[in-house]
Amino acid sequence: MTLSVESRVASNLGRIQQRIQAACDRANRSVDSVRLVAVTKYAQIEWAKSLVELGVQHLGESRPQQLIERAPVLPATVNWHLIGHLQRNKVRSILPFVSLIHSVDSVRLLHRIDQLAEELDLNPHVLLEINIAGEESKDGLSAEEAMAEWPELSSFQRVTIDGLMTMAPATRNLRDAGQVFRQLRELRERLQEYDPSRKLPELSMGMSNDFEIAIEEGATLIRIGSSLFDGL
Ligand SMILES: *Cc1c(COP(=O)(O)O)cnc(C)c1O
Repeated sequence: MTLSVESRVASNLGRIQQRIQAACDRANRSVDSVRLVAVTKYAQIEWAKSLVELGVQHLGESRPQQLIERAPVLPATVNWHLIGHLQRNKVRSILPFVSLIHSVDSVRLLHRIDQLAEELDLNPHVLLEINIAGEESKDGLSAEEAMAEWPELSSFQRVTIDGLMTMAPATRNLRDAGQVFRQLRELRERLQEYDPSRKLPELSMGMSNDFEIAIEEGATLIRIGSSLFDGL
Protein backbone atom coordinates (compact mmCIF):
# COMPACT_ATOMS: atom_id res chain seq x y z
CA MET A 1 0.00 0.00 0.00
CA THR A 2 1.32 3.46 -0.79
CA LEU A 3 0.59 6.30 1.57
CA SER A 4 -0.54 9.65 0.25
CA VAL A 5 1.86 12.59 0.34
CA GLU A 6 -0.31 14.20 3.01
CA SER A 7 -0.20 11.25 5.37
CA ARG A 8 3.54 10.71 4.90
CA VAL A 9 4.27 14.38 5.59
CA ALA A 10 1.87 14.34 8.55
CA SER A 11 3.52 11.35 10.17
CA ASN A 12 7.04 12.68 9.56
CA LEU A 13 6.05 16.04 11.02
CA GLY A 14 4.41 14.37 14.01
CA ARG A 15 7.52 12.38 14.73
CA ILE A 16 9.74 15.46 14.53
CA GLN A 17 7.42 17.44 16.78
CA GLN A 18 7.64 14.66 19.37
CA ARG A 19 11.42 14.75 19.21
CA ILE A 20 11.39 18.55 19.58
CA GLN A 21 9.14 18.20 22.62
CA ALA A 22 11.42 15.56 24.17
CA ALA A 23 14.54 17.69 23.57
CA CYS A 24 12.79 20.70 25.14
CA ASP A 25 11.84 18.58 28.15
CA ARG A 26 15.44 17.44 28.58
CA ALA A 27 16.67 21.02 28.35
CA ASN A 28 13.95 22.39 30.60
CA ARG A 29 12.73 24.66 27.85
CA SER A 30 9.24 25.54 26.75
CA VAL A 31 8.38 24.04 23.38
CA ASP A 32 7.17 27.50 22.31
CA SER A 33 10.74 28.76 22.55
CA VAL A 34 11.77 26.67 19.51
CA ARG A 35 10.42 27.38 16.04
CA LEU A 36 10.57 24.83 13.27
CA VAL A 37 11.62 26.17 9.88
CA ALA A 38 10.66 23.53 7.33
CA VAL A 39 13.31 23.58 4.63
CA THR A 40 11.63 22.95 1.30
CA LYS A 41 14.62 23.39 -1.02
CA TYR A 42 14.38 19.81 -2.32
CA ALA A 43 10.63 19.45 -1.81
CA GLN A 44 7.95 19.54 -4.45
CA ILE A 45 5.55 22.42 -4.05
CA GLU A 46 2.74 20.00 -3.10
CA TRP A 47 4.78 18.72 -0.20
CA ALA A 48 5.29 22.29 1.01
CA LYS A 49 1.54 22.91 0.69
CA SER A 50 0.83 19.83 2.83
CA LEU A 51 3.09 21.17 5.55
CA VAL A 52 1.29 24.49 5.56
CA GLU A 53 -2.08 22.73 5.77
CA LEU A 54 -0.72 20.83 8.76
CA GLY A 55 -0.02 24.14 10.50
CA VAL A 56 3.64 24.78 9.67
CA GLN A 57 4.08 28.55 9.47
CA HIS A 58 7.77 28.89 8.66
CA LEU A 59 9.26 27.67 5.40
CA GLY A 60 12.91 27.98 4.41
CA GLU A 61 14.53 28.02 0.99
CA SER A 62 18.21 28.17 0.20
CA ARG A 63 17.96 29.69 -3.29
CA PRO A 64 16.48 33.18 -3.55
CA GLN A 65 14.98 32.40 -6.95
CA GLN A 66 13.00 29.43 -5.65
CA LEU A 67 11.73 31.44 -2.69
CA ILE A 68 10.56 34.22 -5.01
CA GLU A 69 8.75 31.72 -7.23
CA ARG A 70 7.08 29.86 -4.39
CA ALA A 71 6.01 32.66 -2.08
CA PRO A 72 3.18 33.89 -4.35
CA VAL A 73 1.68 30.40 -4.81
CA LEU A 74 1.56 29.45 -1.15
CA PRO A 75 -0.71 31.08 1.45
CA ALA A 76 0.27 34.64 2.35
CA THR A 77 0.40 33.60 6.02
CA VAL A 78 3.65 31.68 5.45
CA ASN A 79 6.78 33.27 6.90
CA TRP A 80 9.61 32.74 4.44
CA HIS A 81 13.18 32.24 5.59
CA LEU A 82 16.16 32.53 3.30
CA ILE A 83 18.80 30.14 4.60
CA GLY A 84 21.24 30.01 1.68
CA HIS A 85 23.78 32.38 0.20
CA LEU A 86 22.45 35.75 -0.92
CA GLN A 87 24.19 37.71 -3.65
CA ARG A 88 23.92 41.45 -3.49
CA ASN A 89 22.21 41.61 -6.88
CA LYS A 90 19.34 39.43 -5.55
CA VAL A 91 18.54 41.55 -2.52
CA ARG A 92 16.03 43.80 -4.27
CA SER A 93 13.91 40.97 -5.57
CA ILE A 94 13.88 38.94 -2.37
CA LEU A 95 13.24 41.63 0.25
CA PRO A 96 9.48 41.96 -0.33
CA PHE A 97 8.95 38.21 0.26
CA VAL A 98 11.28 37.24 3.05
CA SER A 99 10.58 37.49 6.77
CA LEU A 100 14.04 36.47 7.98
CA ILE A 101 17.36 36.21 6.13
CA HIS A 102 19.56 33.73 8.03
CA SER A 103 22.58 34.06 5.77
CA VAL A 104 24.10 37.52 6.06
CA ASP A 105 27.81 36.90 5.76
CA SER A 106 29.41 40.31 5.15
CA VAL A 107 29.17 43.99 6.00
CA ARG A 108 28.78 44.70 2.28
CA LEU A 109 25.71 42.51 2.02
CA LEU A 110 24.19 44.03 5.14
CA HIS A 111 24.86 47.50 3.77
CA ARG A 112 23.07 46.59 0.54
CA ILE A 113 20.08 45.19 2.45
CA ASP A 114 19.88 48.36 4.55
CA GLN A 115 20.08 50.62 1.48
CA LEU A 116 17.33 48.80 -0.38
CA ALA A 117 15.16 48.58 2.72
CA GLU A 118 15.29 52.35 2.89
CA GLU A 119 14.39 52.65 -0.77
CA LEU A 120 11.55 50.10 -0.56
CA ASP A 121 10.39 51.30 2.87
CA LEU A 122 10.84 47.91 4.53
CA ASN A 123 12.25 46.88 7.91
CA PRO A 124 14.00 43.58 7.29
CA HIS A 125 15.17 41.18 9.96
CA VAL A 126 18.35 39.16 9.51
CA LEU A 127 20.76 36.80 11.23
CA LEU A 128 24.52 36.80 10.85
CA GLU A 129 25.83 33.53 9.48
CA ILE A 130 28.87 32.41 11.45
CA ASN A 131 31.33 29.81 10.24
CA ILE A 132 32.23 28.58 13.72
CA ALA A 133 34.23 25.58 12.57
CA GLY A 134 36.18 27.63 10.01
CA GLU A 135 35.33 25.30 7.13
CA GLU A 136 36.68 26.51 3.79
CA SER A 137 33.66 25.19 1.94
CA LYS A 138 31.16 27.22 3.94
CA ASP A 139 30.06 30.84 3.88
CA GLY A 140 29.88 32.97 6.96
CA LEU A 141 31.91 35.29 9.10
CA SER A 142 34.38 33.81 11.52
CA ALA A 143 33.63 34.51 15.17
CA GLU A 144 36.64 36.85 15.24
CA GLU A 145 35.38 38.79 12.21
CA ALA A 146 31.95 39.11 13.74
CA MET A 147 33.50 40.52 16.92
CA ALA A 148 35.78 42.90 15.05
CA GLU A 149 33.08 44.11 12.68
CA TRP A 150 30.27 44.26 15.22
CA PRO A 151 30.35 48.06 15.66
CA GLU A 152 29.81 48.47 11.93
CA LEU A 153 27.42 45.52 11.56
CA SER A 154 25.19 46.83 14.31
CA SER A 155 25.17 50.42 13.08
CA PHE A 156 22.59 50.13 10.30
CA GLN A 157 19.26 51.84 10.76
CA ARG A 158 16.69 49.94 8.75
CA VAL A 159 17.79 46.39 9.20
CA THR A 160 17.54 44.55 12.52
CA ILE A 161 19.97 41.79 13.43
CA ASP A 162 17.89 39.28 15.42
CA GLY A 163 20.72 36.87 16.15
CA LEU A 164 23.14 34.34 14.73
CA MET A 165 23.03 31.28 12.49
CA THR A 166 25.45 28.43 11.97
CA MET A 167 25.78 24.99 10.47
CA ALA A 168 27.68 22.24 12.24
CA PRO A 169 30.17 20.31 10.09
CA ALA A 170 28.78 17.10 8.68
CA THR A 171 29.94 14.57 11.24
CA ARG A 172 28.57 11.52 12.93
CA ASN A 173 29.86 12.81 16.23
CA LEU A 174 27.08 14.81 17.82
CA ARG A 175 29.43 15.93 20.57
CA ASP A 176 31.31 17.98 17.97
CA ALA A 177 28.06 19.52 16.74
CA GLY A 178 27.14 20.39 20.32
CA GLN A 179 30.45 22.16 20.72
CA VAL A 180 29.86 24.24 17.60
CA PHE A 181 26.40 25.21 18.82
CA ARG A 182 27.74 26.14 22.24
CA GLN A 183 30.35 28.36 20.61
CA LEU A 184 27.64 30.16 18.66
CA ARG A 185 25.73 30.80 21.88
CA GLU A 186 28.88 32.08 23.56
CA LEU A 187 29.57 34.42 20.64
CA ARG A 188 26.04 35.76 21.01
CA GLU A 189 26.78 36.50 24.66
CA ARG A 190 30.01 38.30 23.81
CA LEU A 191 28.30 40.45 21.17
CA GLN A 192 25.52 41.33 23.60
CA GLU A 193 28.08 42.42 26.17
CA TYR A 194 29.38 44.94 23.67
CA ASP A 195 26.05 46.74 23.77
CA PRO A 196 23.63 45.23 26.31
CA SER A 197 20.74 47.29 24.94
CA ARG A 198 20.97 45.40 21.68
CA LYS A 199 19.53 41.93 22.22
CA LEU A 200 20.19 38.98 19.92
CA PRO A 201 17.32 36.65 20.78
CA GLU A 202 17.60 34.18 17.91
CA LEU A 203 19.99 31.27 17.46
CA SER A 204 19.35 29.42 14.18
CA MET A 205 21.12 26.08 14.49
CA GLY A 206 20.30 22.42 14.06
CA MET A 207 19.21 20.44 11.01
CA SER A 208 17.72 16.95 10.53
CA ASN A 209 20.69 15.11 11.99
CA ASP A 210 21.56 17.39 14.90
CA PHE A 211 18.52 19.46 15.91
CA GLU A 212 18.06 17.83 19.30
CA ILE A 213 21.53 18.73 20.48
CA ALA A 214 20.98 22.23 19.04
CA ILE A 215 17.83 22.61 21.15
CA GLU A 216 19.79 21.51 24.21
CA GLU A 217 22.35 24.23 23.40
CA GLY A 218 19.73 26.95 23.05
CA ALA A 219 18.50 26.96 19.45
CA THR A 220 15.41 29.10 18.87
CA LEU A 221 15.11 28.28 15.17
CA ILE A 222 15.80 24.80 13.83
CA ARG A 223 16.02 24.22 10.07
CA ILE A 224 14.75 20.80 9.09
CA GLY A 225 14.49 19.51 5.54
CA SER A 226 15.16 15.91 4.61
CA SER A 227 13.57 14.17 7.59
CA LEU A 228 10.23 15.90 6.91
CA PHE A 229 10.13 14.22 3.54
CA ASP A 230 11.33 10.73 4.42
CA GLY A 231 9.70 8.14 2.25
CA LEU A 232 8.56 10.58 -0.43
C1 LIG B 1 19.43 22.14 3.46
C2 LIG B 1 19.67 22.97 4.66
C3 LIG B 1 19.06 22.63 5.88
C4 LIG B 1 18.22 21.39 6.07
O1 LIG B 1 19.04 20.27 6.11
P1 LIG B 1 18.46 18.78 6.33
O2 LIG B 1 19.64 17.99 6.66
O3 LIG B 1 17.81 18.42 5.04
O4 LIG B 1 17.47 18.87 7.43
C5 LIG B 1 19.29 23.47 6.96
N1 LIG B 1 20.06 24.58 6.85
C6 LIG B 1 20.65 24.92 5.69
C7 LIG B 1 21.47 26.16 5.65
C8 LIG B 1 20.48 24.14 4.56
O5 LIG B 1 21.07 24.49 3.42
